[in-house]
Amino acid sequence: MKTLKITILASVLIAMTTSIWAENLKLNLRSQSKDAADTKVNTERVMWDSKKTALIICDMWDDHWCKSASRRVGEMAPVLNDTIKIARAKGIFIIHAPSSVIDFYKDTSQRNLAQKAPFAKAPIKLSTSPRWGTAWCWTDGKREGVLPIDDSDMGCSCKGEKCDIREAWKRQNKLIDIAEGDAVTDNGQETYNLLAEREIDNVILCGVHLNMCVLGRPFAIRQMVKVGKNVALMRDMTDTMYNPERPPGVDHFTGTDLVIEHIEKFWCPSFTSTDITGKKAFRFKEDKRKKSRK
Ligand SMILES: [Zn+2]
Repeated sequence: MKTLKITILASVLIAMTTSIWAENLKLNLRSQSKDAADTKVNTERVMWDSKKTALIICDMWDDHWCKSASRRVGEMAPVLNDTIKIARAKGIFIIHAPSSVIDFYKDTSQRNLAQKAPFAKAPIKLSTSPRWGTAWCWTDGKREGVLPIDDSDMGCSCKGEKCDIREAWKRQNKLIDIAEGDAVTDNGQETYNLLAEREIDNVILCGVHLNMCVLGRPFAIRQMVKVGKNVALMRDMTDTMYNPERPPGVDHFTGTDLVIEHIEKFWCPSFTSTDITGKKAFRFKEDKRKKSRK
């Protein structure tokens, strides 16, 4: 009898702990003022309901035309996968968005989930401007200044000979698991439908590349902010296309930090994967700086 009581008590305690763990996500959201004179960095501790939160993984492809970019994605992918696993276990809805290679996932249950989500009308017209195979949200002059890095050369960061631009990707990186219950889409309306169906208000963005697709894709930061979601960037799970030989002439990783700063000023706050995993924030091996803003 005594053993039974202890067992019941233990089960209740485990259930309580699990439910608290599953429902709540404590994030340290970092943001900055748009006012250039105000350089103070603000961190706000918020609690998000993980069941009302989606994690969107942008363009973590299997390969890239820039060898350096491809190498960095390969280094980040297993760490991101571990983070996704924990996020999924917390009840966060996972959307894989490997743009323009969605057909690779044709007829999978994860692709069907996105296609079958009932139509939901967004409060604003979703972008239809075509670029790189999806509908693009361009730089918004009313809301943001120009990007702090010059990526007009497309940002190959390789030393010496520059890589040729080509469509090198065929699927999402194999090191990222696509589990049952996850969705696969690169479409803005499908993303909106999936979120509406689950009454999801909070959207976390991660993946690559921050100065391009993580801002501009139809499921990414600009569009999600404009449809009224609470958006946050997971800032250690991203990278940029930036060639340090271009303005402002800083190293690649400082270039990424500058774009994060831009986003924190004009679009949405950011946090590190530590808030999900409890582990140290990710840092690329090639990032030899003594200090970063992370
Ligand atoms: Zn390159």
